Amino acid sequence: MPEVIRQLSELVANQIAAGEVVQRPSSVVKELMENAVDAGAKRIDVRVVDAGRTLIQVRDNGVGMVRNDARRCFDRHATSKISTAEDLFAIVSKGFRGEALASIASIAHVELKTCHSEETEGTRIQMKGGQVVEELPCPAEPGTRISVKNLFFNVPARRNFLKSDAVEMRHVMDEFQRVALAHEEIHFTMRHNDTELFNLKSASRRQRIVGVFGSKYDERLVPIEESTDVFTVEGFVGKPSFARRSRGEQFLFVNQRFVKHHVLNRVIMEAYAGLLPPGQFPLYVLFLTIDPSRLDVNIHPTKTEVKFDEDRTIQALLLPGIRRGLGKYAVAPSLDFDQESSLNIQPLDVNRTVIAPEVRVNKEYNPFHAPSDSQNRGGLRPGKGQIDAWKSLYGEDDLRSEEPKSRDWKNAEPSEIMPSAIDRLDGIPLEEESGSQVRPMFQIQQRYIVTATQSGVWLVDQHRAHQRVIYEALVVRLESNESQVSSQQLLFPELVILPLSDRAFMMDSATWLNQLGLYFKSHESGIEITGMPTEGETRSAALCEAILSEKESDASGISRPERVAAQMARALAVKAGRVLNASEMEDLLDRLFGCSTPGLDPFGKPVIATFEMKEIEQRFN
Ligand code: ADP
Ligand code: MG
Repeated sequence: MPEVIRQLSELVANQIAAGEVVQRPSSVVKELMENAVDAGAKRIDVRVVDAGRTLIQVRDNGVGMVRNDARRCFDRHATSKISTAEDLFAIVSKGFRGEALASIASIAHVELKTCHSEETEGTRIQMKGGQVVEELPCPAEPGTRISVKNLFFNVPARRNFLKSDAVEMRHVMDEFQRVALAHEEIHFTMRHNDTELFNLKSASRRQRIVGVFGSKYDERLVPIEESTDVFTVEGFVGKPSFARRSRGEQFLFVNQRFVKHHVLNRVIMEAYAGLLPPGQFPLYVLFLTIDPSRLDVNIHPTKTEVKFDEDRTIQALLLPGIRRGLGKYAVAPSLDFDQESSLNIQPLDVNRTVIAPEVRVNKEYNPFHAPSDSQNRGGLRPGKGQIDAWKSLYGEDDLRSEEPKSRDWKNAEPSEIMPSAIDRLDGIPLEEESGSQVRPMFQIQQRYIVTATQSGVWLVDQHRAHQRVIYEALVVRLESNESQVSSQQLLFPELVILPLSDRAFMMDSATWLNQLGLYFKSHESGIEITGMPTEGETRSAALCEAILSEKESDASGISRPERVAAQMARALAVKAGRVLNASEMEDLLDRLFGCSTPGLDPFGKPVIATFEMKEIEQRFN
């Protein structure tokens, strides 16, 4: 029998490798940009013609290559980035396989112009199908320019496999964005045909994100920062209200390398539990920095997947970190203190005592009304979250004032109350001054609470608002793990008739249902309710029904007790059609803005509709 095993030629081997490394023009853009970053460039210009089919050119002002390196860089496994196997565990560069240039050169016409920063003459090399066709000295221009022409000229199958220019260009932009987001210190530009698509000057991380996605994004970003001895997580997540139907705005970088990490992605999504409607994905641009020795980047040829030793610790830190971040910034749709564009807002003086708006009921406002019992009702009292929420609602000045300025607005000259203009809302002055005690509000359709703020007019859905308030109070109880929580003891236990399976579910869930304030005993035909949550108004049967609606497990990733808490909140919350008096409204809003996420009910529906002053003014134009 003839022998059949042969050594593949270098070209064929490279073409096979190219199949893995270079799937489409965007892969070339990624590899060339990464090489430029690794070369220490401060500026990287990317040029693409016909979505990369005709030309992909990347020019950098990095360290460049000396003549022999320029020749060698197209060899297979030629790399300057690692030399021993140990180096694999300490990778700080983007590349390390030495495969990219060899692969690219085997399937395109490549021109390299490079000059090492310490040389007086540069090198220009032309490659065709993996062969050097010309090598000449060229004028010294520090840095490197690689032009890749006629991609896949010798692999027609690949070439035919490419999608439309629009699709390929989308991929190119994706890769460009990933590298640009990870390196805000580098100036990047990108041209497609004759159009400049990006010109991103060296900037802060926030500015870079805004540069990549557009100026509207500034107000959508919530900063995150967490760290331990071993790693740090920094970056931004998006406010829930700006979530999208696709995952296109989710970026996780590990040591400045874009990665896909399913577990961490799930953790991030979990942080948004109860804040997003199903099928919506929040933006995130998060940067994890970790000792490279704890990282294995070597598991996938295109290196977007990583494994690390610290999965669990990172998860444990990330979830509460994001929740905290979201809690701080959740309310204000447009008043964010960290926006690049709002540099005129002065930071809060840390040495000053922050005064929460304590006085909620102004007796003058409703002299006939008995003092509210709201102080005794279960729920969240003003904490840091509330202060932040108020801050974003009414502006910092409200909180910065040393003490609330109480004003007798009835006797004051209008101009004294409002220096600039007289704003009136149904005869009630709209207060712009700080520390005011009266927050004008009224109810319409027995359903919405209307209130005026510094930034405009807000409509609050009372049912959803109350759901949010109750939900967060219940979740706090779940998390507190206390065995005895406040519950309203029923004078006469109420029997709720349930089939055996439902009864069994309730009994099995007794521990956490107790934590949610529901106490009951087994009864031969159902359960006997002895204590109900203190807050809200509903019958015990309706409450059981709400709880049982979560009997089946689901795939949302949200724990059952939390889902039940949401259902209970819905059952307990005041409904539309319930008349609220002034102090009830005030109390509800107060507590709503003490929530970590006042803007959404536990099922992700909006709680507040805002009409910004600008919008209102436009209506009168
Ligand atoms: P890798 O990046 O994995 O090392 P490549 O095939 O991408 O492999 O590049 C091979 C080598 O060529 C690199 O290790 C580097 O030394 C050199 N090189 C490539 N691009 C540049 C560049 N833009 N500037 C300087 N050196 C470069
Ligand atoms: Mg490389």
